[in-house]
Amino acid sequence: MLEGCTPWPAERARHYRTAGHWRGESLGDLLAAAAAAHAGRTALVLGRRRLTYAELDRRVSRTAAGFVEQGIRAGDRVVVQLPNVPEFVIVCFALFRMGAKPVFSLVSHRANEIRHLVALSGAVAYVVPGTYQGFDHTRLALDLVAEHDALRTVFVLDPAAKAAADAPAGVLVALDEADAEPRPMPAPDPSDVAFFLLSGGTTALPKLIPRTHDDYAYQTRAAAELLGLGSDDVYLAVLPAEFNFTWGCPGVVGTLRSGGTVVLMDAPIADECFETIERERVTFTSLVPTVAQLWLEAAEWNEADLSSLKLVQIGGARLHRAIAERITPVLGCRLQQVFGMAEGLLTLTRATDSEETVLSTQGRPLSPDDEVRIAGPDGDDLPPGGTGELLARGPYTLQGYYRAPEHNARAFTDDGFYRTGDLARLTEDGALVIEGRIKDVIIRGGDKVSASEVEEHLLAHPAVAEVAVVPVPDPFLGERVGAYVVPAGPPPSLRELKEALHAAGLADYKLPDWLEIVVKLPLTGLGKVDKKVLAADAAARIEAADAPSEAAAAR
Ligand code: AMP
Repeated sequence: MLEGCTPWPAERARHYRTAGHWRGESLGDLLAAAAAAHAGRTALVLGRRRLTYAELDRRVSRTAAGFVEQGIRAGDRVVVQLPNVPEFVIVCFALFRMGAKPVFSLVSHRANEIRHLVALSGAVAYVVPGTYQGFDHTRLALDLVAEHDALRTVFVLDPAAKAAADAPAGVLVALDEADAEPRPMPAPDPSDVAFFLLSGGTTALPKLIPRTHDDYAYQTRAAAELLGLGSDDVYLAVLPAEFNFTWGCPGVVGTLRSGGTVVLMDAPIADECFETIERERVTFTSLVPTVAQLWLEAAEWNEADLSSLKLVQIGGARLHRAIAERITPVLGCRLQQVFGMAEGLLTLTRATDSEETVLSTQGRPLSPDDEVRIAGPDGDDLPPGGTGELLARGPYTLQGYYRAPEHNARAFTDDGFYRTGDLARLTEDGALVIEGRIKDVIIRGGDKVSASEVEEHLLAHPAVAEVAVVPVPDPFLGERVGAYVVPAGPPPSLRELKEALHAAGLADYKLPDWLEIVVKLPLTGLGKVDKKVLAADAAARIEAADAPSEAAAAR
């Protein structure tokens, strides 16, 4: 395995092989097998562009050969930063096939994050779109080449960006030019790293999560089987494709291995998505709750035919019950709650689950060999039903972040369980309920307030459309409960909200102390509410006020 990665202990690895989870498949092989079985069927769609499996497979083989000609070798790391376009899929599978390792970066990443990813991964190449959404990625890439010895080549999707840039000879290559007659290549070792996902970096610079061919082939196969995917399925990829949820739960990879069609879209704008669902007869998609909420609002007046849609997966952040309840009546399809993380563990509700389980839990683990524990503050397992930190290990959950020995010593138990940092409990029938993040707790003068609990209550108020609860600094209590609210009509006052929550029986110490009305909530590159931005904003506002506590209390 690549130096800097932590392999599974031999005994568990043996068990995962004997159990048939790890089958020695490489991700490149999966696509080749699907192309052999479904050559003429449509694999990828972007607007009017359509690629059959045969075309996709050929482009992948030619691009892999082109990368070799450009000096990329098996084992090399390559930062890939592309929007939802077919080239994202082509580049990744080309790198899989030749044994080089894509490092998935979000399109929203800028110098700070990319510099960190390049340095940490020791990347030799960086794939960029050109200028995208007003940002000149080519310029950034060339600056980074000048700073990092290992980084030699920039591949740019937009050929015009190559012509326009002033780059040293040989450094900037149009992606189209990475194209050569396919050639035999040594097969990558399936137990080795296939690519790197990023840890949810809303609180710190992202860490690199090594995913092996074996573990990801298993995750996508098991998730595709759970959904019963077949070649008639059409997946709408609207969240960023480099998000684990979109890429492989079962997502893009799971659909492609099943011979289905992946329809790529660049933004989850409801009207455009609905039009695409109608045109392409989309059968399933995956959304974060904030996007699901926008879709529900748009569906009230949009008349597109969504009847092909069988399933909407919602995950990535807590799905409030009030929204969960509206999915089937409004979108006319089944809801599946998904709890997952780029680090591995996935839990999902099943078609056979009761309505109550689907609405109120995040389902059961994907694999019979996923091991989950709920631990108290001392690290011991809690009695059944207790809420504590979720710990996980299993056949597709990482054993360590890449090149992060100190962090790994804290993030894993001695026997290899990953400390997720999520607060959870298990129901009697083994479904997981995520109660919040350990660090999503506001500590108000010693009382612990779960942000998501207060959010759930605020969302039940008719004047509240969206909400995020964050800590606001307070000289007396340490932290107080701050609420950012997007109103559903005339903005509510703090007093009104407090009275409603009080009447609903919420303990007084959990009532919001501070309210800010906003038109929208800031989102991370993955579409989750960016609480880091809100907490910083709240702290700045408090600091700017003359007498913080009184000013806040007077609102
Ligand atoms: P990421 O690795 O970026 O996908 O983020 C993983 C984290 O997102 C998890 O550790 C949880 O904190 C959160 N998360 C993912 N799915 C859910 C869910 N269904 N409900 C609540 N939180 C979730």
